[in-house]
Amino acid sequence: MMTDAPDAIDHDDASRVLDASPRVLMDDDDKPHEECGVFGVWRSTDAAALTALGLHALQHRGQEAAGIVSLDDGGLFHSHKGLGLVGDNFSDAKVMAGLPGRASIGHNRYATTGETALRNVQPLYADFEFGGFAVAHNGNLTNAYALKRALVRRGCLFQSTTDSEVFVHLIAISLYSTVVDRLIDALKQVQGAYSLVALHNGALLGARDPLGVRPLVLGRLPGHAGGGHVLASETCALDIVGAEFVRDIEPGEIVVIDDAGVRSVKPFGRHESRFCIFEYIYFSRPDSVSEGTPVYDTRKRIGAELARESHVSADVVVPVPDSGVPAAMGYAAEAKIPFELGIIRNHYVGRTFIEPTDQIRHLGVKLKHSANKPILAGKRVILVDDSIVRGTTSRKIVEMVRQAGATEVHMRISSPPTTHSCYYGIDTPERSQLMAARHDLEEMARIIGVDSLAFISLDGLYRALGKPGRDAKKPAYCDACFTGEYAIPLTDWQDNSEKQLSLLQPVGT
Ligand code: SF4
Repeated sequence: MMTDAPDAIDHDDASRVLDASPRVLMDDDDKPHEECGVFGVWRSTDAAALTALGLHALQHRGQEAAGIVSLDDGGLFHSHKGLGLVGDNFSDAKVMAGLPGRASIGHNRYATTGETALRNVQPLYADFEFGGFAVAHNGNLTNAYALKRALVRRGCLFQSTTDSEVFVHLIAISLYSTVVDRLIDALKQVQGAYSLVALHNGALLGARDPLGVRPLVLGRLPGHAGGGHVLASETCALDIVGAEFVRDIEPGEIVVIDDAGVRSVKPFGRHESRFCIFEYIYFSRPDSVSEGTPVYDTRKRIGAELARESHVSADVVVPVPDSGVPAAMGYAAEAKIPFELGIIRNHYVGRTFIEPTDQIRHLGVKLKHSANKPILAGKRVILVDDSIVRGTTSRKIVEMVRQAGATEVHMRISSPPTTHSCYYGIDTPERSQLMAARHDLEEMARIIGVDSLAFISLDGLYRALGKPGRDAKKPAYCDACFTGEYAIPLTDWQDNSEKQLSLLQPVGT
């Protein structure tokens, strides 16, 4: 049983898998956005509070909405969800008191706008014949439209426009008897990238897609021999609750955490991992360790590799804060050029929801970044950033650095050119808006206004990750936004139906 009343069903929206309404954009819109973070706790007296802390540590993975579902010892589920940051929704003692129990799951979302927004906030909850079931999902399903069409024909009534609701309906109609078998049945029908946490009366469940595109880690809470486990998108969320890192959930693995301990189910056989390489470049928090590799060190190694590949004489190496900082440190150390904070980021701008006009984007850059003139005046500057998406922010930052008196500006990017959209849970603009899909290097340098521009090569990126280079036959990571080689079929996008395409955007949860 759930204590919250479900939202009303909108039958018009029930035919839509993904909300294609225009997005309201943030002031740092010229970046790809991680779509979601997930967190789950099994057996802790402060389950909901720990979940709120975990979500707070994962705030960088989604800032538009947050939700927690808890399970009390009497088998009742409790829910609180809202638009905004974790702190906006879970700092009130009354709210937290309304989330009792020793198990809970939570979700941060980079959400869509409009009246559908709250309905799409996760975790999603449903009552089944076996009892209550809540699920939270990070990633994006690539056959959600096809599945949803079939499910709607069978009479399923969708209450949200998020692709994650497909999981709920597939579990509902499964003929298997146990919850785990029903989940396996559902997962075998979906395509795409998913890391999910789910909660039912007997267990906390975690699952990763067969290629392990999105991250999920297991941790153990101190002082709990039998239970006391957590699942999280990143290790930084384990650190904040004092949990010890146990291991990454493997690609294609389902973990069942109950009072007997942790059990692993691997229904998909062995697959090669294709973890998202962009997690190392930009998405993950630098203090996280992803797939056994510290993100901060990796970013510094990428910067060093970039310096070896595209050296240029200069007086200072300046990061575009904050995400360019570790790569710039690695670049500066390798190039033996002083590292300086020539651009200062204002951390107190606040999150302004703004319309995506060029004029407002321009203002957004100035609100967030200012030039440190004494560092830049009269200098030859190497600017290091993690990616170029539309190029609008880069252009404004270069202009600002020149106005501060830099005599030369060279831009170095710690990712290869982003030439393709992500369909696996990262919000990137469509290809026509990606600068690197429309222009060659020379044109990009001219548009951005730099004296030279260089991106790290794909092989260089793989070398920074400890590989000899990119194995074209068997790449170790998902790198589709740089190569266009999508390892998971894009079933919904391969249907030529005009109506279908108009409803689909590469949007995840
Ligand atoms: Fe990550 Fe790019 Fe693959 Fe998306 S397409 S999962 S951003 S590497």
